[in-house]
Order: sequence, then C-alpha cells, then structure tokens
Amino acid sequence: MTSRGIGQKGILANRVAVVTGSTDGIGFAIARRLARDGAHVVVSSRKQQNVDRAVAALQGEGLSVVGTVCRVGKAEDRERLVATVVEHCGGLDFLVCSAGVNPLVGSTLGASEQVWDKILEVNVKAPALMLSQLLPHMEKRGSGAVILVSSISAYVPHVELGPYNISKTALLGLTRTLSLELAPKGIRVNCLVPGVIKTDFSKVVYKNEVFWNNFKEDHKVQRIGQPEDCAGLVSFLCSPDASYITGENIAVAGFSSRL
Ligand code: NAP
Repeated sequence: MTSRGIGQKGILANRVAVVTGSTDGIGFAIARRLARDGAHVVVSSRKQQNVDRAVAALQGEGLSVVGTVCRVGKAEDRERLVATVVEHCGGLDFLVCSAGVNPLVGSTLGASEQVWDKILEVNVKAPALMLSQLLPHMEKRGSGAVILVSSISAYVPHVELGPYNISKTALLGLTRTLSLELAPKGIRVNCLVPGVIKTDFSKVVYKNEVFWNNFKEDHKVQRIGQPEDCAGLVSFLCSPDASYITGENIAVAGFSSRL
C-alpha cells in the first residue's frame, strides 16, 4: 500500500473518495477522473496485483491515490477498506460503488440458489453494507456524495442476464431509499446507469454481433461507450455543482430509455 500527500488542485481538491472495483474498466476511469479533479482516491479490487498495477499507473500520472484489496462481499475486506480510509485519509467525502458481478448467462429460472446469492450479495447488499461501515466517517464531514452503479439492463433487460438485470433494478430502489434516509445528514445518493461500455465485463454483450447490431439499430446508438464516458458524470455528482441533486438515476448510454 502506498500513498501520496493530499493537496491537489481542482474542483474536488482536498476531498477523499473510495471507489470499489476500481482497478479496471469503469471504476478505474472514475478513480482516475476524481483524482485528476483533485480528490485523494482509495482504489480497490479483489486482486493485490491489480491494485498494485492501478495504484502505480495513477501515481505515475502524479495523482494522489492509495490502494487496498477489497472483495466487496467480504465483511473483513470491507473492514480493511474502512481502516485504510481512516489511517491514510482521516475521513471520507465520496463513495462510488462500481464493483459488480454476473456469473450467469442463461435463463432466470435456471439460476441456482448460489448464483442468486452471489449476484445479490455483491451487487446489492455489498454497496449498502459498505456504506453503513463508512457512514460514520462521512457524517463527520457534514456532507458527502454516494454514487451507485446500476445498468441500462435495469430498464431494458438483457435476455439471458436475468438475475443481473434484477440486481441492477434493485439498485435504482436502493438509490431512492438511501437518498431519503441520508438527506438529513447532508449526504446525497445518486446512481450512474451505464449503457454498453467497452470493458472486459461487457464482452458478452458487444461481441454478440446479432444482439449488439439489433440493440444499436433499435435505440439508434451510434457507438460503444468508453469507461471515460461515465467518469465525468460521477465527478459532477460529487462536486458542489450537484449539491441540489439527489435520488437520481442518470443513464450514460448513447440513448434514453425514459418516457
Ligand atoms: P470490469 O472492466 O470487468 O472491471 C471490474 C472491476 O471490478 C475490476 O477492477 C475488478 O478487479 C473489480 N471487481 C470485480 N469483482 C469484484 C468484487 N467482488 N469486489 C471488488 N472488486 C471487484 O467491469 P466494468 O464493465 O467496468 O463494470 C463495472 C460496473 O459497471 C459493474 O457494476 C457493472 O455491472 C456496471 N456496468 C457495466 C457495463 C458495461 O457495459 N461495461 C454496463 C452497465 C453496468 P479484480 O478482478 O481485481 O477484482
């Protein structure tokens, strides 16, 4: 674990952010953007070598980061993340929950109990439990922002990803509920809703040519998204410019599925 001093310039200067699942893909792009905007960022994921690689890459850009292993479904890993935040940062302003899994491609009713448990544990329970463990350290700051990461599949279900779709729909509800509960504490809760973003995770979608071509045609999507397409919105939602925005689910998808 390594660190650099706080004291960067930018709209998020002297703020502290935790981003889960942030050694690759969307989480990594968000961690980089928050750090570029001045925040001190704690990156994490399941594998030490990935944490080391991400921390080295971001520090190589002169950004202020520390890293620790955190498999979000494991209580002791979440405790270690909290300890890292307290030890290295002394408090927390922003939590971005990007870690998510999908162990199943198949029918919803064919999903085993283990598959359901895994998806709900990592995608839905872990963000709530992570926030409950970090909340005392956010409350002390008097304000804060939480960003959950859902998916457009919450609105437009991908066939064969049923339990995953459902977990992402649950996150829309978690966002609304937590935004109400935490408003009196000055903590805003919003939700990033990515469309198809080019990462390892989404290969199952965009490498399925028939599906992807039909999807693009149906929704007039002009290109695949990049992880960086999601990062600016998260920085904005953390910033003072978003201080009157909470409980919102915002799609970054190249189309809108709303009425
Ligand atoms: P990705 O490129 O595969 O990156 C996933 C990151 O999370 C990696 O850093 C991985 O590192 C870490 N990770 C995986 N499981 C974890 C766990 N249980 N605990 C902690 N860290 C974990 O995935 P992505 O596409 O960026 O997806 C990020 C989020 O966006 C997910 O919640 C996903 O559902 C959502 N999303 C993605 C898309 C898309 O098109 N890509 C669309 C909609 C929503 P380790 O392997 O070291 O753990």
